[in-house]
Amino acid sequence: MRIVALAGGIGGARFLRGLKEAVAPGDEITVIGNTGDDIHLFGLKVCPDLDTVMYTLGGGIHEEQGWGRADETWSVKEEMKAYGVGPDWFGLGDRDFATHIVRTQMISAGYPLSAVTEALCHRWQPGVRLIPMSDDRVETHVRITDEQGSRAVHFQEYWVRLHAEVAAEAIVPVGADTAKPAPGVLEAIAEADVILFPPSNPVVSVGTILAVPGIRRAVADAAAPVVGLSPIIGGAPVRGMADKVLAAVGVEAEAGAVARHYGSDLLDGWLVDTADESAVAAVEEAGIRCRAVPLLMTDVPATAAMARAALQLAAEVRG
Ligand code: GDP
Ligand code: CA
Repeated sequence: MRIVALAGGIGGARFLRGLKEAVAPGDEITVIGNTGDDIHLFGLKVCPDLDTVMYTLGGGIHEEQGWGRADETWSVKEEMKAYGVGPDWFGLGDRDFATHIVRTQMISAGYPLSAVTEALCHRWQPGVRLIPMSDDRVETHVRITDEQGSRAVHFQEYWVRLHAEVAAEAIVPVGADTAKPAPGVLEAIAEADVILFPPSNPVVSVGTILAVPGIRRAVADAAAPVVGLSPIIGGAPVRGMADKVLAAVGVEAEAGAVARHYGSDLLDGWLVDTADESAVAAVEEAGIRCRAVPLLMTDVPATAAMARAALQLAAEVRG
C-alpha cells in the first residue's frame, strides 16, 4: 500500500512515528513536508518542519521538547550572542547547526531542496520518503497590529518570538502562488492508495502545503481516500497556538469546524477525539465520514492506534 501524508513539524512527526508502527511490511510512506516555516538565519537555510520529521523518525529528536536535537549544546549560540549578533529568540543548537550548514552548502552548490533533503535523510534513515512541498522558496508571514503599527512578520517571529500573543489578522504564504510542487509530489498523490492529514496545524502546516498550486487539486482529484485527524481536542489545540491562526482564517478552534474548513472536496474521512463525540454528526452532515477515537499521542502505541483508526476509516470510505 502507498500512503501519502501531508505533514508539519511536531504533530506531523509524532503521528508519522505511530503510522510507521501501524503499517504492514512493504507499505510505503511518502511524506510531503511543509516548508512555509523555513527561515534564513545567520546566512543559513533552516527548515524546521522537515528537520522535525527527519530527527523524530531518525531517532535524533529531543523527545520532551519535540523539536531540535537530543543531547544538544549551545556554544555557537552563545558565541553569536557575545558578538551581539542575533536573533537570539530562535533556538539553534550546535548539532542542529551542522544540518543547516550542510543544507546551505548544498543549496549554494546548486542542489534543489528536495535533493538536499534526500541527502540529509541518507544519514537519518527516517523510514519514509520525505519530500519538501516545493523546491521554491515559500515563507509564511503573519499580519499583526502592535505598538509598531500594522505590519507583517515572518511566521517564526510570530510563533517563537511573539508566542502568538497578538492576534493574527492574516496568514500569507509568501511565494506560494508561484511555487511549483517539488518533483515527485503530484505523482505520489496521484499514485497513493491512502492520503492522510496528520493532526498538523490546518492553517500554517497542511494549509500551506495545499497552497502550492496544483497540490490541493491533486488531493481533491486523487483516487485515494483522504482521511484527516483533528489537532483540536475539546476546543483547543493539544499543543501550541493553532487557535490563533485558525481565527485568522475565520475558523473556530473546534474539531468539527476544522474538518468543514478542509471541506468534503478534500476530505473523505475525519477523526475527532472521544471528547468531541458531539462534533461527529455535523461533520457527517457536511459529507465527511467521521469517527470519535482517542487522539492523544501520549506514546507510540497510542499513536499507532490512531493511525490504524485512520487507515480503517480510509478503507471504509473506499467502500
Ligand atoms: P508544528 O509545525 O511543530 O507546529 O507541528 P504540526 O503543524 O505538525 O502540528 C501541530 C499541531 O499538532 C498542533 O495544532 C497540536 O494541537 C497538534 N498536536 C500535538 N500533539 C497532539 C496530540 O497528542 N494529539 C492531537 N490530536 N494533536 C496533537
Ligand atoms: Ca511548523
